[in-house]
Amino acid sequence: MAAAVRGTFTYRVPSHLAAEVTLGRRVAVPFGRSPRATGYVVGFPTSAPAGVELRDLAEVLDTFPLFTPDLVKLLRWAEEYYLCPPGELHRAALPPGLNARRGKAAPARRGVEWAAPTEGAAEALPSLARRARAQHAVLEYLLARGRIPLEELRTAFPQGRAALLALTRRGLARVDAGSRVAQGGLLDARAEPLPLTAEQAAALEAVTGAGGFATYLLHGVTGSGKTEVYLQAIGRLRAAGKGALVLVPEIALTPQLAGRFRARFGDDVALLHSGLSDAERHAEWLRLRHGEARICVGVRSAVFAPVQELGIVVVDEEHDGSFKQEDGPPYQARDLAVVRAREAGAVCLLGSATPSLETLENTRRGRYRLLELPRRIDDRPMPPVELVDLARLRRTVPAFGLLSPPLADALAATVGEGRQAILFLNRRGFQTLVLCEACGQEARCPSCAVSLTFHQRRGLLLCHYCGHAERRTDDCPACGGPRIGLGVGTEQVEAAARKLLPEARVERLDRDAVGSAGDVAAVLARFARREIDVLVGTQMVTKGHDFPGVTLVGVVLADTGLSLPDFRAAERTFQLLTQVAGRAGRGGDAGRVLVQTWNPGTPAVACAATHDYARFAEQELASRRAHGWPPYQRLVAVRVEGSEAGARRTAEALAAAALPALGSDVAMLGPAPAALERLRGRSRWQLLFRAADPSALRRIHRALRPVAEHPPGGAAVRFDVDPNALL
Ligand code: ADP
Ligand code: ZN
Repeated sequence: MAAAVRGTFTYRVPSHLAAEVTLGRRVAVPFGRSPRATGYVVGFPTSAPAGVELRDLAEVLDTFPLFTPDLVKLLRWAEEYYLCPPGELHRAALPPGLNARRGKAAPARRGVEWAAPTEGAAEALPSLARRARAQHAVLEYLLARGRIPLEELRTAFPQGRAALLALTRRGLARVDAGSRVAQGGLLDARAEPLPLTAEQAAALEAVTGAGGFATYLLHGVTGSGKTEVYLQAIGRLRAAGKGALVLVPEIALTPQLAGRFRARFGDDVALLHSGLSDAERHAEWLRLRHGEARICVGVRSAVFAPVQELGIVVVDEEHDGSFKQEDGPPYQARDLAVVRAREAGAVCLLGSATPSLETLENTRRGRYRLLELPRRIDDRPMPPVELVDLARLRRTVPAFGLLSPPLADALAATVGEGRQAILFLNRRGFQTLVLCEACGQEARCPSCAVSLTFHQRRGLLLCHYCGHAERRTDDCPACGGPRIGLGVGTEQVEAAARKLLPEARVERLDRDAVGSAGDVAAVLARFARREIDVLVGTQMVTKGHDFPGVTLVGVVLADTGLSLPDFRAAERTFQLLTQVAGRAGRGGDAGRVLVQTWNPGTPAVACAATHDYARFAEQELASRRAHGWPPYQRLVAVRVEGSEAGARRTAEALAAAALPALGSDVAMLGPAPAALERLRGRSRWQLLFRAADPSALRRIHRALRPVAEHPPGGAAVRFDVDPNALL
């Protein structure tokens, strides 16, 4: 049986191919009028569907199955659960390049190589700054990190090969293939397992003693040593011949993490992320498939990586939004990780300082087991968080800029003492709204229903959704009146910090300031080397390295995400505030966090300030229950995109088809224009279906499918199961 374009179809296996047709291989089959289409072998039914005349399978395309049996089961489960056409996730699960080619030769085995700066490198660094930017960035990184696996450098600087080569020719860096043990003095301190704290040891025993499928939530505060638990659990299972899969949110922002896995397990680690070329990804995939690497560290799509003898699946920062695939076939990799572990009889370990409420609820229902690391390593204190109530301050202090007096004072004191600060604001640009003082007209994107953001450095008004750019004029294009800019972005925070502290070295880290993953790594490395005093940025600064020099974290405005029309707005705000606060005081010096807010009493802000996850979760879960949101009810969003009239007609037709199927157990919200009503010139509508039982939602899908496949208004219809955002 083979899954072809849309559906599962049954074929007869000619006897000369019988030995080769095994689960998980691709086959060529006649399909419709086409003599050859590609399918995946997903099962062997004992009888053919009634009334079907069977045709012969034409050819077997692979010399080995691309999907192991546990992966075949996972993919079939996922395609059914996420309501996507059979075959769609199978394709998404293969590395690019392999889809076109046949799965054959294995690449040569590589040894672990290491890169390090040489003795005089630090002195030579300044001379590179102007002449050789790429080399400068790579060397800066090496100086900050010392001797590191080459793989970490490749992750940080996907295009850095030439620069490294040039540095070695200049005698400023060296690459060696020496063993870890032989390098005594230069050994990365974390290459060998650390003696565990009692809590870490208890978590490790639980996870490695499961003896079959089980899911654990490792809830540990920032800096509590979760990663060390992952490493040692993997190490134990590896000694027993088992493989491991580790999913992380974004490798480019955290090359250090990938480096820790390479440092401990060397060549046994394959990395899968978007910074690799297609050929590299293909090679890593083959190393896993052939069991030459038994540990995979990768992003979302690596949940489908062909790890052999899978013994453990780890999802780090399991609450992170990047595990949800939003375009292409939508799936939630964290949830699939649990299914993958189940199909393989492996352990699943979900780790976070701020577990998602879905995962928390699963521990309460006894489906997942809870393990806690409530303290930081070495009993380092959690940094005290002070709320700066902007409304109250306004009443007593007549005028202040976007850095309030308490934050400005703290910043000046921190930099004055030679320490470092992070200023966080989750909005890019200079001003987020530009409007006319006379007629009130705002600068809006012509093809999206959003206002344009003013980017001062480039002198442009930009749409953050479609990239539309226009020059900013001082006068209103409609009436000629004067225009003003409102709303604060990171560019303006950077300007304010520079103005406040003209002597300080202030830099910005957001998608505008850094183009590539390599630039991100370079900025983070400069910060780690204390060549930057104040780092201003979006959520990019909440992740990344462990910066021992950071003693102050300032949140410029905690409320930016709170008012979004999305039931997860509070949860996301709580997570972000907790993550960014966790950057302070990781070294020997105590840290301090100042949070400017208009809503000091709202639970997301108040509980983040007291590091009180339990209280936040309690209140938020009560509110979710009262309003019928996940984790108490399941959602399917049906998204419609098309012309203004077409999207509306299609949405209305979907609603009409759904009505008779609703019954008493499904609620329909909408149809209504989406919160982002128009994007890239296309109108967007949304229907939301809500039920306690997911199978009821599958009934709705069956009722909607005929309309979705032939939408009357010609619009595109997408089903999004367990949607992450409702915008
Ligand atoms: P998390 O993943 O929870 O943020 P990490 O695993 O990164 O925490 O640990 C934070 C720091 O503490 C790291 O520098 C790590 O090397 C160190 N660390 C972790 N476990 C131990 C331990 N048992 N003994 C000493 N240091 C540890
Ligand atoms: Zn736009």
